[in-house]
Amino acid sequence: MIPFNKPFYPTTSSEFIQDSLATNHISGDGKYSNKIKQFFEQKFRFRYNLMTTSCTDALELIALTIDLKKDDEVILPSYTFVSTANPFLLRGAKLIFADSCSDSPNINLDHVRQLITKKTKVIVIVHYAGIACDIQKLMKIKKDFSAIYIVEDAAQCVDSFYNGKPLGSFGDFSAFSFHETKNISCGEGGLFVCKEEVNYHKAEIIREKGTNRMSFIRGEVNKYGWKNIGSSFLPSDILAAILWAQLQEMDKIKSNRKKIWNNYYIGLETLESTGKIIRPKFSTKVDHNAHIFYLITRNETERNQLIQFLSERLIKANFHYLSLHKSDFFKSKAINDFLPNSDKYMNCLVRLPLFNQMELTDSNKVIENIQVFFN
Ligand SMILES: *Cc1c(COP(=O)(O)O)cnc(C)c1O
Repeated sequence: MIPFNKPFYPTTSSEFIQDSLATNHISGDGKYSNKIKQFFEQKFRFRYNLMTTSCTDALELIALTIDLKKDDEVILPSYTFVSTANPFLLRGAKLIFADSCSDSPNINLDHVRQLITKKTKVIVIVHYAGIACDIQKLMKIKKDFSAIYIVEDAAQCVDSFYNGKPLGSFGDFSAFSFHETKNISCGEGGLFVCKEEVNYHKAEIIREKGTNRMSFIRGEVNKYGWKNIGSSFLPSDILAAILWAQLQEMDKIKSNRKKIWNNYYIGLETLESTGKIIRPKFSTKVDHNAHIFYLITRNETERNQLIQFLSERLIKANFHYLSLHKSDFFKSKAINDFLPNSDKYMNCLVRLPLFNQMELTDSNKVIENIQVFFN
C-alpha cells in the first residue's frame, strides 16, 4: 500500500521534548518557542512573527488585528480550505469569492480586481501547493489600492519562494501551518507574520488574552493588564520542541519531496503531450517546496475513475477542495456563484502520494499505474 501522506518525526523530537520538560516551562513562549521565533526571523527575515496553535488561529489573529467591521468585504478564493474563510466570517465580514486561474488553482487576480469595491477591506490569497500565485499582479493591486490589506494564507508555503523572496513576505499579513499534513509539522501549529511594527504589537496583545504580558516579560512595564479584546493562541513549548526537530531537517525534507515531485512531473509528460492530463504550470521565478503534486483530468468521471483505479492497486490518491461557494454551509449565502475554474479544480484535480520518506520506486509505481489507466 502506498499511503497518500506519512508524517515524519525525526528521533531528535523526543530529545527536544525531554529538554523542554526539563525547563519547567511548557506553556507558551518557552525555550523552543523562542528558538522557532528566531529561526523564522533569521532564515526568512520574518521580523514580526508569533507562533500560534494553528494556521486557522493565525488567520483569526490576523482578522482580529485588522479590526474588521460588519459588512466589510473580504475577497478570497473559493477553491481553498474553510480556514481561509472562517476567521473573517467570525468577524462578521462579507465574503466575496474570486475564481481560480484557468491554468492554475491559484486565485485569478484579474477577477479579484473586478470584485474590488469601496467596502473591500481585505484580499486573502492562497498559494496552492506551495506554488506562488501571480505575485506581479498581486503587488500591482497592493500599490493601486493601498488601503486594502493583503493577507497571504501561506499554510502550504514554508520554504517556498518567488524570485528569491519567501512566500509570506509579500502581503501585510501571512499565516503558515505546521499541521501534520504539511511539509514541516508538529501535529497542530501555525505562525503569524506581519510587516508593520504597529500591527505586531497589536497582535501580541490579542494573542495573550488581550493583555500586554509580553511587554511585561520583556521588562518594559512593571505589571500587565487588559489592553484590548483578545484570545489565546499560544502553543505549548512541547509542540515547539517537536517543530524545532523538524526545522533542523528542513532542507532535507524539501529536497526529498522535490525528488518525488520532479519524478512525477517528468514521468507524466507524455500523458500531458497526448492531451490526457495537465500537469502543474508556473513561472520560472517560482521555487516551490513540493507540498502537493497534482494533475488535472479532462472531466470529473475520469478523475473519480482514476482515484478508484489507483485505490484498487493500493495507491492512495485524493481529490482536494470542494469550492466553498458550493458548500452546504455557504451555497445559499454566496453572492457570486459563477466560478467555473474553481469548479473545474473541484471536479478534475487529483493529488498523488507525496511524503518525505517516500521511495522513488513507489512514485514510479504510481506513474506506471496512471499510464496503464489512460492507455
Ligand atoms: C492546512 C491549511 C489551513 C489550515 O491549517 P491549520 O494549521 O490546520 O489550521 C488553512 N489554509 C490552507 C490553504 C491550508 O492548506
